[in-house]
Amino acid sequence: MSITPLMPVYPRCEVRPVRGEGCYLIGERGERYLDFAAGIAVNALGHGHPHLVKAIAEQAATLMHVSNLYGSPQGEALAKRIVDNSFADTVFFTNSGAEAVECAIKTARRYHYANGNPQRHKLITFKNAFHGRTLGAISATDQPKMRDGFEPLLPGFDYVAFNDLEGALAKIDDETAGFLVETVQGEGGMTAGTPDFITGLRRAADEHGLLLILDEVQCGYGRTGKFFAHEHYGIIPDIMAVAKGIGGGFPLGACLATEEAAKGMVFGTHGSTYGGNPLAMAAGMAVLDVMLEPGFFDRVAQMGERLRQAFEQLIPNHDDLFEEIRGKGLMLGIKMKEPAVARDFVAHLRDNHGLLTVAAGENVFRVLPPLVIEDSHISEAIEKLSAGAASYRLPEPPAS
Ligand SMILES: *Cc1c(COP(=O)(O)O)cnc(C)c1O
Repeated sequence: MSITPLMPVYPRCEVRPVRGEGCYLIGERGERYLDFAAGIAVNALGHGHPHLVKAIAEQAATLMHVSNLYGSPQGEALAKRIVDNSFADTVFFTNSGAEAVECAIKTARRYHYANGNPQRHKLITFKNAFHGRTLGAISATDQPKMRDGFEPLLPGFDYVAFNDLEGALAKIDDETAGFLVETVQGEGGMTAGTPDFITGLRRAADEHGLLLILDEVQCGYGRTGKFFAHEHYGIIPDIMAVAKGIGGGFPLGACLATEEAAKGMVFGTHGSTYGGNPLAMAAGMAVLDVMLEPGFFDRVAQMGERLRQAFEQLIPNHDDLFEEIRGKGLMLGIKMKEPAVARDFVAHLRDNHGLLTVAAGENVFRVLPPLVIEDSHISEAIEKLSAGAASYRLPEPPAS
């Protein structure tokens, strides 16, 4: 038998973390890495944050899981806190981002069904999007690497170039239910929606009775320097999927909606065995205890600005390698000049300079540090990046 016990769907690298301390990961051989990947934007409070650790440990000892058949004081409290601090009137808790997206798609379809327009089932989605790996979520992206071999997928999606408002408007027809879009694309290449695009989708949704669904699984929860990325644009969605940072490392996601948008989600229409269990709620509460402290998001914005400025100073020294900086807050990406080298450069930084970053689409490497980084971490990252850029040798072109 040659298949590994762990299904081999990930090309895993040689870093094998066994411990985390704040903004650092420690590998099996005791080696330390500065973690500017943060579990792909998940470890918002870094590793081993005492408040989060204590909340989870205490809740685990008190009550870990009960069925959603029972009343949930823990779920009610966290949902209320999210509602009080967002556009939403109601929240469904999930265990992952993809499930939050699934709930968002179902909520949108049910809205039009409840309004007597069941033909309005199609969502306009965007090229290079990433919404997760369930069948519904891969149906909402046009990326062949995620779709190939899994067809037939869920019908009812139209794909338009990201930031192409005209293109999106041109796709609206009698069967359109709404738009599903990442406010800032993550996996696709760290491209922020332009203000005209995001506000234009909002306006079109209002004009045509459509729903605006935002996928803020990666860009939400403080990552861009606001609680939610759409706050930069002065608009609100009707439905929004969040996850990643929401549990600070505990598997948790949520689908947020306005009362109007959620009108079809009545008893029996949706569910989850684990979703919103007391342990997950304790993690979500602890994360908000920290994030909703006055000044937390402003500090993220400030750190993001410092990191961006440091990148801007670095780029001219290595303009053969780096092309441009993308993203918002502490969700930054640097586009590489030579085609298809981002993955190789990420490996170089990791293996030779102890700096963890993540590759993204469009030849971008992503920098997603814990939201609690200090100036010293920024200096250290820039030193490592600078040394890494100086020591980097482009991969040999494949022999023809
Ligand atoms: C990571 C991600 C998802 C999927 O989240 P999972 O927890 O892996 O299911 C969905 N949308 C966006 C924008 C993401 O970045």
